[in-house]
Order: sequence, then structure tokens, then C-alpha cells
Amino acid sequence: MEAANNMSESEAVPNPKPKLIYRCKKCRRIVASEESIVPHERGKGEECFKWKKRSVEKEPTQCSSIFVEAMKWMQPVQEGYVEEKLQCIGCKARLGSFNWAGMQCNCGAWVNPAFQLHKSRLDECYM
Ligand SMILES: [Zn+2]
Ligand SMILES: [Zn+2]
Repeated sequence: MEAANNMSESEAVPNPKPKLIYRCKKCRRIVASEESIVPHERGKGEECFKWKKRSVEKEPTQCSSIFVEAMKWMQPVQEGYVEEKLQCIGCKARLGSFNWAGMQCNCGAWVNPAFQLHKSRLDECYM
């Protein structure tokens, strides 16, 4: 007879919240994760304070790329370049570019220094 065994022992879940990660679309190598993302304010200079009051008739521009911290797989960064393309070390696909002097996102915001990865080259998923 089966006892109603209520596995009430809480399973040890180290990560209750799924973590957002970004993989290279081609070879699925993980190239960035939630923690390495450097957030930026959209369209800086366009009087951000008024955003709340203004009715959103104009949809804010979606950022087509993410900005991250410098990471180990970014070879030209390790080699001391100031500005270069960023290639996946797995499959050499171009994922973006970086510039220590900063770069502008398509939303208008400047990120400085900038390590930009194009969302179209990445797979966003939760782990
Ligand atoms: Zn942006
Ligand atoms: Zn790749």
C-alpha cells in the first residue's frame, strides 16, 4: 500500500530564481549573464524626468544590444586594444564590439567604457 508520502523535505534549490544568460546564437557558448550586464539610461539627454508624466505615445526605442563588463573571453580586451570587434571564442562569430572611450546605444545613451553585444547575435535564456 502506498502511503501518501508527502515529500515535504524541501529540495535544496540553490537558485530559486532563474538566471538570465546570453549565449552565442551559433555555438551556444555562454557569453554573458545577468550579473555582467551594465545597465544604461535610455536616451540620456532627452529630459528623462519628464518621461513619467508624458503619456507614452511614442514607444521607447528598444535597445538592440546589451552592454556588459569586460570579460575573459574578450581576447582583444585582454590584449590591450582600446577598440575592437568582439568575437565569440567558440565559433568566431562577431558578437559586437567594444571601445574604452565609450559607444552609443541605438536608444541614444552613451555607455563608457562600452562592451557591446548585439542581441540579434545572442540567444537569451533562463537557466
Ligand atoms: Zn540602449
Ligand atoms: Zn559562438
